[in-house]
Amino acid sequence: MCIDMDAYFASVEQQANPRLRGKPIAVIGSGGRTVITTRSYEARRYGVKTGMNIYEAKKLCPQIILVVGNNEKYTYTCKELSKIYFKFTPEVEIYSIDEAFLDITTTHHLFGGPDDIGHSIKKEIKRQFGINCTVGIAPNILMAKLVSDLAKPDGFRWIKPEDVQGLLKELPVKEMWGIGSRISERLERLGIRTCSELGNAPVSLLRNKFGIIGETLKQMGQGICSRPLISDAGDPKSIGHSMTFSKDLSAKDTIKAQVLKLSALVGRRARRHGFTGRKISLTIRYPDFETFSKGTTLPEFTNITHEIYHAVLRILSTIKLKDKIRLLGVSLSHLMKENKDQLTLFSDRAKERSLLQAVDTINDKYGDFTITWGSYLENMERPTVISPAWRPSGIRNIAIKN
Ligand SMILES: [Mg+2]
Repeated sequence: MCIDMDAYFASVEQQANPRLRGKPIAVIGSGGRTVITTRSYEARRYGVKTGMNIYEAKKLCPQIILVVGNNEKYTYTCKELSKIYFKFTPEVEIYSIDEAFLDITTTHHLFGGPDDIGHSIKKEIKRQFGINCTVGIAPNILMAKLVSDLAKPDGFRWIKPEDVQGLLKELPVKEMWGIGSRISERLERLGIRTCSELGNAPVSLLRNKFGIIGETLKQMGQGICSRPLISDAGDPKSIGHSMTFSKDLSAKDTIKAQVLKLSALVGRRARRHGFTGRKISLTIRYPDFETFSKGTTLPEFTNITHEIYHAVLRILSTIKLKDKIRLLGVSLSHLMKENKDQLTLFSDRAKERSLLQAVDTINDKYGDFTITWGSYLENMERPTVISPAWRPSGIRNIAIKN
């Protein structure tokens, strides 16, 4: 799905200042020799175009209102818009300040299908921000972008795989995203005018004339695009957990138990998302809010609870605590994607891994800390997460002896 805001900067300005609504306006830069960056649809009716200077614009539309652009406003709105997208799928690529791609392949059924998602997003953007956008839905990014361009403004178009060829049949090549006027002129000289002519052109001819992109051009003509969506959720830089305690901690065993609990949470999250890390950090906050962190780098990447735990204990042993502890935090950073083969090269780690896998599977099914370490349970006051294993008398537990 491609979501493209209509006249984005101008729309944001019209929403920010009601007096600009319904009027021909243009957003310009702040410099002296500035040009039109975006113009409202009202200004487009007068023929005002992007890239025109102010005098040309005023000649066409004397009543045009010029607004100096405010990038902060546009980037802020862009970020707020992305929050709407993430409600429908974790696979979101903010392609530019006013365009985003969403992969809804695995989530659309949860929201009533592509049609419903598209209209829900359009409606939500209109409701929250008052601005119009155009939604294009297609089997790939290239076609989604194309149909959103064709459906502008305030449009909606969903093209199914079986209709792609029909659409491309008479479509001029320059309509295709990524084919500018220079390439389209050169194609025309070769007698290639429409997308389907491009798709049917011999690859040798295209390679000969356009070099390495010849093949890509042919595929574009066929509506084929293998560019994956580059998700902005991205990889996390660190995985961490911290806890503020209702009663400041002083007993060594209690501190160690909480460190184990935090290490278990960090390890589990890293395993769940398939990450390993090499740097372990401990954060401590005293009752007077003095806070500090100390880290250590391990020789090997890990996401094994006990390796994290022991690393934190080593850090802890180098710290002379000056007071009770109000907050503890454990984090894993210097992350990389997990390589399971590498981890199992070491047989003792293989054993630990399969143990953790079993524990994770059970905890996933019955709730956090259904199975946990004995040393943690002995020093725990009460569960912080109500799991199905919770009983008034304490967690029903099957402890693994460490
Ligand atoms: Mg746009």
